[in-house]
Amino acid sequence: MIREAITRYLREQKQAVLSPEAVLFDMDGVLYDSMSFHARAWLETAVNHNLLAKPEDFYLFEGRTGESTIDELFYRTFRHGATREEKEQMYKEKAELFNQYNDGRPMKGALETLEQVKAYGLDALIVTGSGQHSLIDKLNDNFPGVFVREKMVTAFDVKYGKPHPEPYLMGLEKAGVQPNQAIVVENAPLGVQAAVASGIFTIAVNTGPLKDELLLKEGAHLLYPDMETLAKEWPAIMEMCNVKKPGS
Ligand code: MG
Repeated sequence: MIREAITRYLREQKQAVLSPEAVLFDMDGVLYDSMSFHARAWLETAVNHNLLAKPEDFYLFEGRTGESTIDELFYRTFRHGATREEKEQMYKEKAELFNQYNDGRPMKGALETLEQVKAYGLDALIVTGSGQHSLIDKLNDNFPGVFVREKMVTAFDVKYGKPHPEPYLMGLEKAGVQPNQAIVVENAPLGVQAAVASGIFTIAVNTGPLKDELLLKEGAHLLYPDMETLAKEWPAIMEMCNVKKPGS
């Protein structure tokens, strides 16, 4: 399965080889088990503003910046976008609810996956549409010594956000690698779309309620049900990429 996935990637992206040096991790739904809290906070905020929304929407929107999510809800409800003030106010409300609900729990298997990535000598970066200081600031507590701020792409860095390839292209630049020297780990359809559009080998982990097909349709090269499985499969993925543990 891994071999076929790499072959498909090389063919689609017209690359000769996949030789990863960096792994670009999405944050919510990958490193943190936070998506249900985001969805709940978004839904309540939307309802408070008389915007049309259902719980599943926020898993489908996942990866977009907050501003873009609010615009989308406004267009669908009122057929026009939100003003800057409306966006700021709504995002503030959503962030407050999120911080109230979020228990800060890391995703099961995330630490193990990061340990594998480090053991193989690869760099680990974060590429997130999030602008939540509460999670970004906690990364170093939950995953000590793995991430540095200079190698992070967040809502504060981007203009377009996912599903535009921009965040992942910025991630490549920060890692100092080419698309075929990286791997992305994503849980959201729009995140997969952004990663694939930036030319990177993309592993989807379906940690939420959406159907696998939604992630595969966007072009995910590999799909696992959770991060624990990804951690277990990591050595096999590295073997197929001819990446050896340093010193072995
Ligand atoms: Mg995510």
